[in-house]
Amino acid sequence: MKRQQYLVIGLGRFGTAVATTLYQLGHEVVAIDEQEENVQRIMNQVTHVAMVDATDERALAAIGIQDFDVVVVAIGADVKANILTTVAAKSAGARYVVCKAIDDMTRRVLEKVGADMVVRPEHDMGVRLARKLVRPHSFDD
Ligand code: ATP
Repeated sequence: MKRQQYLVIGLGRFGTAVATTLYQLGHEVVAIDEQEENVQRIMNQVTHVAMVDATDERALAAIGIQDFDVVVVAIGADVKANILTTVAAKSAGARYVVCKAIDDMTRRVLEKVGADMVVRPEHDMGVRLARKLVRPHSFDD
């Protein structure tokens, strides 16, 4: 498996799980957050960390966002920051941007502003659990 480069933006529960798992799977992971304590918490569990306001397009360009294979925007509750970060990431040259959305309206907006993929963790996991309960021996776990 080719070693990929990932940039994970936003280190709440979701972003932290994505970043640390990608790193454990052998990939290069840069994790950023605007809060110093969140950056400190994950420091030894990923390749590099940085404290950055991800809505700042120039700051994203300065960390070389265009060089990453995938950028994950894992900002949930702050919908404005999520959308502005997605726009900034695409404008700064990100190749493939995966965004977290808290609801369907946010998903639609994120797709309109250029997100390549949008996930809704609570919704998607609910669908998956329901399917698993109906077909417990399914390979889709
Ligand atoms: P969780 O993933 O914990 O379920 P969540 O997705 O709602 O919740 P939030 O608390 O909204 O998580 O934010 C995720 C992280 O994104 C937080 O650590 C927050 O500091 C960070 N964040 C929010 N805005 C920005 C920004 N402009 N630049 C960088 N990081 C940001």
